[in-house]
Amino acid sequence: MQQINNKFIRQNMYRAKYFVWIVVTLELLLIMINIIQNGDIWDSYLLLHLLLLVFSVLFLFLTSVMDRKSFDYQLVKMIIWNYYWFTLMWAATITLLDQDSYGHVTAYLINLLGVAIMYHIRLKSFILLQSIPTLYLLGGLIIVQPNTEIVLAHLVNIAFFIVISLAGSYFIYQGHYRMFEHEQLLLQKNNQLAYTNGSLQLLATRDELTAMPNRRGLYDYVEATMGNKARHVTVMLLDIDAFKHFNDYYGHLAGDKALQEVAAILKKLAGEHHFVGRFGGEEFIYLMFDVERKEALHFANKICRMVELRRIKHEASPFFPYVTVSVGLASNPFCIKDDLHQLFQDADAALYRAKKAGRNCAQLSV
Ligand code: GH3
Ligand code: MG
Ligand code: MG
Repeated sequence: MQQINNKFIRQNMYRAKYFVWIVVTLELLLIMINIIQNGDIWDSYLLLHLLLLVFSVLFLFLTSVMDRKSFDYQLVKMIIWNYYWFTLMWAATITLLDQDSYGHVTAYLINLLGVAIMYHIRLKSFILLQSIPTLYLLGGLIIVQPNTEIVLAHLVNIAFFIVISLAGSYFIYQGHYRMFEHEQLLLQKNNQLAYTNGSLQLLATRDELTAMPNRRGLYDYVEATMGNKARHVTVMLLDIDAFKHFNDYYGHLAGDKALQEVAAILKKLAGEHHFVGRFGGEEFIYLMFDVERKEALHFANKICRMVELRRIKHEASPFFPYVTVSVGLASNPFCIKDDLHQLFQDADAALYRAKKAGRNCAQLSV
């Protein structure tokens, strides 16, 4: 609701600026005509035109300052309201002056219609806006217009135009209100959709148990980092040793917890530099760029040590009394996306050799 109201204020301000520019142009013309016709004699018309000109320029100045600096909606709303109210009072005054010469009420009616079209506000507000200027005009007409028949004709005219401008104002406001409401709803739905998409993307690419990227997350990462470029890639496959025994001995839930603990160590060691994800089951994968084989092997051995040093008890293991991991490494200095599958297979073969070599160690692919 507040957003819709603010939108109305902003748009009313932009429309009012057009209105004021038209007024400024007309006033300048009228002032010139007045000066040409009457010389430099200052009559009430000239003063009124100058007054409206000054107010119009002031309006343009204030709104452009507001527009450029901090936009205070309530203040802008007040400025617009006062400007339109002033133009109606001004038009009523000119109309009263006109009674001396041609005796019609066109000036006020045109202004009233102009305001109804340009200023989009609630019907109640519009009634309030024009009430004092209209009453002032009606009261003034009764006083300044001696001809009762003309006064009656004016009353009919004014009543007719008021009904038209109220109806116009109401329908324009309602139309815009519905439109803004739909826009707002659409915006909300879009935001919800974007949020749901984000959550779905996260669900689809992240492993729930370890909060690590899953295989789809790995492929997204490959897509984002490699594209069609050739890069020096090292793949490291890690597998927890004798994990079936662990589950059988400690139960599946304890197995899950151990997986999480190992995952936490791997994430910490990967830091910001390397990608690490859950490849499936009790297997993890590291993807590293521009790392020399020796350096990668050193890193893999460090991982084995860190997991071992975590001392997660594994009394059922035929190999070590703690949870350990075995690692297989493979690298390709000019690897493109299509070569990755082969690299995974090489790393898997190296992992198999690490298992055969007694586990809790790392092996490089040959
Ligand atoms: P190895 O040393 O040769 O790797 O032996 P292993 O027992 O680790 O290998 P195996 O492939 O025989 O068993 C893997 C086990 O990992 C079996 C499976 O129940 C367990 N596992 C896979 N995913 C999960 C999981 O999400 N949670 C738990 N608790 N266990 C899992
Ligand atoms: Mg396995
Ligand atoms: Mg295993």
